[in-house]
This record gives sequence, structure tokens and C-alpha cells, in this order.
Amino acid sequence: MRTFFGTLLYPFFFPGGALLVAVLILLSQPAWLASLRPVQGFILWIVIAAGLFLGWRFNRSRLFLATLALAVAERLLALAPVGDGRSLMLSLIGVLLPLNLAFFSCLSERGLLTLRGMLRLLLIAAQVGCGVWLYHQHFAETLAMLKSTWLNLPVPAFVSLDQPVLASVILAFAVLLFRFVRHPGVFESGFLWALASVVLALNGTSAHWPLLFAVAGLILVLGILETFHFMAFRDELTGLPARRAMNEALLKLGSRYTLAMVDIDFFKKFNDRHGHDVGDQVLRMVAARLATVRGGGRAFRYGGEEFALLFSGRPVEEVLPVLEQLREDIEHAEFSLRGTFRPRKKPTHPKQKKSAAGKLRVTVSIGAAERGGALKEPALVLKAADQALYRAKKRGRNQVCR
Ligand code: GH3
Ligand code: MG
Ligand code: MG
Repeated sequence: MRTFFGTLLYPFFFPGGALLVAVLILLSQPAWLASLRPVQGFILWIVIAAGLFLGWRFNRSRLFLATLALAVAERLLALAPVGDGRSLMLSLIGVLLPLNLAFFSCLSERGLLTLRGMLRLLLIAAQVGCGVWLYHQHFAETLAMLKSTWLNLPVPAFVSLDQPVLASVILAFAVLLFRFVRHPGVFESGFLWALASVVLALNGTSAHWPLLFAVAGLILVLGILETFHFMAFRDELTGLPARRAMNEALLKLGSRYTLAMVDIDFFKKFNDRHGHDVGDQVLRMVAARLATVRGGGRAFRYGGEEFALLFSGRPVEEVLPVLEQLREDIEHAEFSLRGTFRPRKKPTHPKQKKSAAGKLRVTVSIGAAERGGALKEPALVLKAADQALYRAKKRGRNQVCR
């Protein structure tokens, strides 16, 4: 349940969904809406500048392209004369923008100043060129085509989008949802919520479409900031919170806590015998076990093959049995390896006798220390836990010491 919330529900709804809901509540208040109207264009261009800058500065081409598409769409809409001109541009953008957002979300980050990056920029330019050409040379035919109802889609009364627009929106949502399920993350869900905001903007709400475009851009910008934060505080290999996260957690501790340092025994031999990849797999598997620590503990990757466990509000006596259990769990777990040892697919005719190849046994040594006495600062408690770990190693490894 916790994993479902943590890995899917949370990144799906935060921050994009929450922001959009907040803005919709805001927009339902006529007084707020009136006060925002004069500044919505300003807000939009601040957001667009932020999106373009972050995308360029940190080489996030998806953010850059999506923000650029929003900016171009806004300009084209603003420049089209009210009436049929605006109506045509609205539908044209309604068809193209969702498809562009869906396409950009699926791209890999390859940088902007590369051949691929340039081609992607060219794609936006080509669409603008085509749009302007259709607008000036084939206005009536394009308008008729965009207003056609040959798709026969069941359109609810509150939806004022033309049928080709609706088809494009549905397709884009499907692609984005698929993408999010395959790669759950705040930036991926951000594209979904940004599209939702764009759709609301295009759905006949002419009064505040710049604001909703700004919200779409802001969702993407917040998504990238969340991603950067995640990258800074999460260890990429194991998925555990990294040392930086631990340093922050140490600052928030009360007067009672226990710290434990965990070190894999003879880890170097896994690397030496089976290669670095297997070493990495062992690290991931041990980390997965440590993440399930009970007794209110939180696991961090301290560095290399060392981990730290933090038990806020717990004396060491309470923590020792938990650590002992964890050590035993790891000792008795048979870690199965993929790749070097084991075929990826189950063989159709398994051997009679199950071979032990592909299974690894790992043990850990653990040192624990509690805050108290002369150990007042987290750095001192950490040092004491490290010394206890050293004792565990000296006494023969695969044990817990305090
Ligand atoms: P001990 O029982 O005394 O702890 O022995 P050990 O071999 O585990 O200790 P040592 O500190 O000598 O070895 C740690 C090794 O961990 C050395 C380094 O190459 C390896 N290592 C550190 N980080 C990583 C990593 O991210 N991936 C892999 N595969 N190996 C790593
Ligand atoms: Mg070590
Ligand atoms: Mg070690």
C-alpha cells in the first residue's frame, strides 16, 4: 500500500494535480479571477522564461521544447484576430499542441545543441510555418476541416472542443498515461497535468487562457525542480535516500536516537570474482532488505557498500533486537542474480537438480550507538557507531556490536 502511494499515487498527483486543482478553485472565485486578469500575461511570460532557462541551463530538452511550444501557441493565439481567425487558430493549436506535448514527453534527454535537438526545434518551426501558411492561403478549407464532425465523437455539453481537437487530446492523454505508467515520476505526470491545463484553456474559456497556459508551464517547471531534488537526495543505484538526505535528517533529530552503520562483509570479493555489475546487484539487494527495517528505522546509503540506519526516539536496547533480526534476514536470504549467472528466461526443460549457481549469500556487520553522555552531536554518535562496526568486523564479521 505504502509502495503504491509512494511510487504511483504521489508522483501522479504532486505537484501537478495539486497545483491545477488549487488554480481551479481560485478561478471559481470571480473576485480573484478579476484581480488576476490584468497580470496573467505577465505571469505567463515569467513562467515561460523560467521553463526555457531551466531547460537550456540544465540540458532538459523536454522541458525546453514543451515550454517553447506553449510560448509559440500563446503568441499565435494572441496574434489571431478575434472571430473566425481566433477560432481557426484555437482549433489548429488544439490539434497540434497536445500531440506535441505527448511527443516531447516520450523523447529521451539528448540535449538541445545536438543534431537531434536541432531537428526537434525544426519540427516546431515547421508546424508554425504550416499553420501560418494554412491560415493565409487556405483559411476556409482549414476552418471547415477543423470544424468537421465526421469523427462522430460523443461530445458532452460542457466540452466546446472541435472533434479533431478532441481526438488529438484523447490520443495525447493515452500516450502520456502510458508513459507515466511505464516511467512513474513527477515530470512524467507533469506532462499529463500540463495537458489538462491546456485543454481547459482551449475549452472555450477565453477569459483566462493565458493563466492556464502559465499553469501548464509552471507544472512542468515544478516537475523538473522536484526531479532535481529527488536526484540530489536519492541514491541512484539503490533507490535509498542518499547521504545528503541523512545529513538533513540528522539536523532534525531530538534528544534521543540511535544510529547504526551497516557494512557488507567481504564485499570486494563480489566485485573481484563476479565483476562490478554483480557487486551493484548485491548492493541493490541488500539495500532493498535494509529499506524494510522495522522499529521505526530509516535506511540511507552512506557511501560505497556502507549503509546507515537511523532510529529516531529509540534507545539502543530497543534497536539491537531489530538489528539482529535484520542481520539474520540478510544472512539467510538467498540473493538471486540476473545476467551473469542466470538466464533471463526460465529454461523450458529445467535441469533435474537445482544448481546453486546464480544464488549468492551475503552477510553484513552492524555497529550501533545511542546519543547520550559525551555523545551529544550526531557526528560523535556516528563515529561511535563506526567504531562499533569496526569491533564487529574484528570479532569475525556477520554480527551486531554496540
Ligand atoms: P570488509 O568485510 O572488511 O568490509 O571487506 P570489504 O571487502 O567489504 O571492504 P572494502 O572496504 O575493502 O571494500 C569495499 C569495496 O566496495 C571497494 C569498492 O570497490 C566497492 N564499492 C564501493 N562502491 C561500490 C559500488 O557502488 N558498486 C560496486 N560494485 N562496488 C563498490
Ligand atoms: Mg566498507
Ligand atoms: Mg565491507
